[in-house]
Amino acid sequence: MKELICIACPNGCRLTVDEKTNAVSGNKCLRGEKFALKEITCPTRSLTSTIATVFDDCPVISVKTDGEIPKDKIFSVMKELKKIKVEKRLKIGDIVIANVADANVNIVATKNM
Ligand code: SF4
Repeated sequence: MKELICIACPNGCRLTVDEKTNAVSGNKCLRGEKFALKEITCPTRSLTSTIATVFDDCPVISVKTDGEIPKDKIFSVMKELKKIKVEKRLKIGDIVIANVADANVNIVATKNM
């Protein structure tokens, strides 16, 4: 048995998963079951962070992944973010790093500069 907190909505249901039968309990809706089964097989997360820029009036820009990445790729992606410095003005949604750390997602700006 594995215990999890569902993060699919603010209710934060306490879930229990039987890893032998994949039976999920404690969920108030189907999203909880889906979350639990994914969490025990291939957990993923969206990532938000900031990247340094060369601009004095905007020394960092907020960014996020445009999809979810496997949890075990989070540190590789963060390493990539620390390596670069943005050198052009960006708008919300502009791609900052394509296919970051081979995780099949892009890093996009979440702020206009
Ligand atoms: S199981 Fe449903 S209601 Fe409960 S936290 Fe997850 S999404 Fe929200």
